[in-house]
Amino acid sequence: MATTPADIRIPTDLLPADGRFGAGPSKVRDAQVSALAAAARTPLGTSHRQEPVRSLVRRVRTGLADLFSLPDGYEVALGNGGSTAFWDVATFCLVRSRAQHAAFGEFGAKFATATSRAPFLETSTVVEAPAGTVAHCRPEDGVDVYAFPHNETSTGAVSPVERVAGSQAAGALTVVDGTSAAGGLGVDVAQTDAYYFAPQKSFGSDGGLWLALLSPDAVERAAQLEAERWVPEFLSLTTALTNSRQDQTLNTPAIATLLLMAEQIEWMLEQGGLEWTTARTAASAAHLYGWAESRPWATPFVTDPAERSNVVGTVDLDDAVPAADVLAALRANGVVDAFAYRKLGRNQLRVAMFPAIEPDDVAALTACVDFVVEQLG
Ligand SMILES: *Cc1c(COP(=O)(O)O)cnc(C)c1O
Repeated sequence: MATTPADIRIPTDLLPADGRFGAGPSKVRDAQVSALAAAARTPLGTSHRQEPVRSLVRRVRTGLADLFSLPDGYEVALGNGGSTAFWDVATFCLVRSRAQHAAFGEFGAKFATATSRAPFLETSTVVEAPAGTVAHCRPEDGVDVYAFPHNETSTGAVSPVERVAGSQAAGALTVVDGTSAAGGLGVDVAQTDAYYFAPQKSFGSDGGLWLALLSPDAVERAAQLEAERWVPEFLSLTTALTNSRQDQTLNTPAIATLLLMAEQIEWMLEQGGLEWTTARTAASAAHLYGWAESRPWATPFVTDPAERSNVVGTVDLDDAVPAADVLAALRANGVVDAFAYRKLGRNQLRVAMFPAIEPDDVAALTACVDFVVEQLG
């Protein structure tokens, strides 16, 4: 028997072909990296104001429009700063007086904090639910933005993406954080006014950008609010949109991130679009949760099967099986980042099952965990 978890040697035939199971940054496919190498002289290292980089932005924008079957009148906008920056963009440019947030994990709560602290807004309403379950927005007078995450990456719980009944008629916007969901979970974009995300999760690219699918109502709201209140230029949705329409960004973007993103979107489209990616993440998830249910020392953290995410799976382990030991053994064998969200503080494995991740590798991961648990004895 091995002396420490890191001494455990997992037989090679059990190991996944690719050992990256992190929830973001997540696995980047080799073909994306090859495309990056092929871009060594152009567009890498060339001006973002010239056609080669603009055409990259165009590939990303038209690719996303295609992938999400963008409803009539919707537009794809992008800017620097990742989804966290978009929370501030939305706070300034989309919330008129009061937001209501559904918060059931770290990410939903962070956006709620952003709007709650804004001195020019009324105190936000926050509908909370314990980690591992889902909170739902509900009709409320005076609310002009309803916000919730599609996939709560910190817990592995997934929310339906539906407008609150009557909210559109009442002039309220629906702003959905699709950061880890977009690309790997199905969505009807018409149920949202802003569906925003970043490239380092289901799109297997790098961080640093935000992307948003915007309804005409969202575009109009931003124009109105920006005429009424001071908005830092970096956080102006209207400025971002004006630049996006010209396949530009306000300031210099990471060209490599754009390129990896464009490659991934086109790969998804070639394979069959969201229908294909969502079948693939569903297959990975069915295996992971089925496995967890069949092991006496493991349990899916999200109790309601309908709320279990197909892109980020969380599995609680028995106290007798310390996740830290399992993770140390996995890492020593090149299988990395299947750790629980730090602040959740659970004895848990969290497994990304984004479209880039082979369902066979998810199966291999569980076989590796079985082996490690047996060795830890
Ligand atoms: C990762 C993540 C974020 C933060 O994204 P950044 O690009 O790092 O700002 C926000 N929301 C969700 C749901 C996430 O998974």
